[in-house]
Amino acid sequence: MAVVCRYGNSARSIRCWSLATLHIGYPGTPHARRRPKKGVRGTPATERCHFHSGALSENISCSTGGRQGLGGPPARVQRSRRAGTRLRNNRSTRTTTMWNPLRHTSAYIASRRRLLGTITHVRTDQKVVALTFDDGPDPEFTPKLLEILRTNQARATFFVVGKRAEEHPELLDQIIRDGHLLGNHSWSHTALPLLSRSARLREIRRCHRALPSQPKRILRPPYGYQSRATRLDAYLLGYDVVTWNAAGDDCFGAGPDAIRDRLMKEIKPGSIVLMHDSLYKAREVRYRDRGPALEALTQVFVESAGDYRFVTVAELMKLGKPQREMWWRKPKVDMLEQLV
Ligand SMILES: [Zn+2]
Repeated sequence: MAVVCRYGNSARSIRCWSLATLHIGYPGTPHARRRPKKGVRGTPATERCHFHSGALSENISCSTGGRQGLGGPPARVQRSRRAGTRLRNNRSTRTTTMWNPLRHTSAYIASRRRLLGTITHVRTDQKVVALTFDDGPDPEFTPKLLEILRTNQARATFFVVGKRAEEHPELLDQIIRDGHLLGNHSWSHTALPLLSRSARLREIRRCHRALPSQPKRILRPPYGYQSRATRLDAYLLGYDVVTWNAAGDDCFGAGPDAIRDRLMKEIKPGSIVLMHDSLYKAREVRYRDRGPALEALTQVFVESAGDYRFVTVAELMKLGKPQREMWWRKPKVDMLEQLV
């Protein structure tokens, strides 16, 4: 015999408000499970239902389990106590079965994305792209890159490492004079989730102090590696975290043609493109050579001339709706092994 509530709905019916209330009140009870686990005989609702039958009027009977009818649950107070014990003893079940009506509202989802989401690109129909260059400034390659950008009337965003920025203030001045944007890439290019909170905040703040004031506070975590804790820290410091949705893969010895082909394939309206004007921690010297990437970039400008416009991240965000992604990916192990 199936278990039904006072309104005649079955125990598994989500539409039954009295049962829904029961599920909220007693998360972690057998009734809160939607599906029986594999290997469990029968359904929890019919096997162990003393809570459920307690919520019913006395003319409802319960098929199995222990207590039926009047032998069912004790008084409401006792039930609450028992539920409380279960809550304390079964935290993992509580988190997976609690029904939170806010979770289903678009406002909740939007605010969660705003708080924890990472900007990866911008939704727009205009052919605009934000090129971003990490790990600089580099005394050898950054001036060459600035020259290429100047020639092609392109603007870009430089996520600089604080330590390097402090060593080369003249390069920062040149970047700003040319109309580009500066972003924070930490003080010493360390994976932020691996640091203690105080060390992490120090990395971000120290780099912030090394940069001139910018129209927008943007942060790119080294390797794109972040956790919820690092994301919240950035938020509390007033930063928007910006990663990418297109990459030149110019890190580990790719030739100019390969980089150009990849860029031409990945660039779309509103894209944020990852490139490097330096490799801060490359183990092999050959990886530090930015020549192929600069050559590829020149070819991209030639091929996309009159088609795409290249702007800073701040400008791009004004031209469309920034798209935020819950970005918790870890860097590839083989990539980290290539870095000091
Ligand atoms: Zn980097």
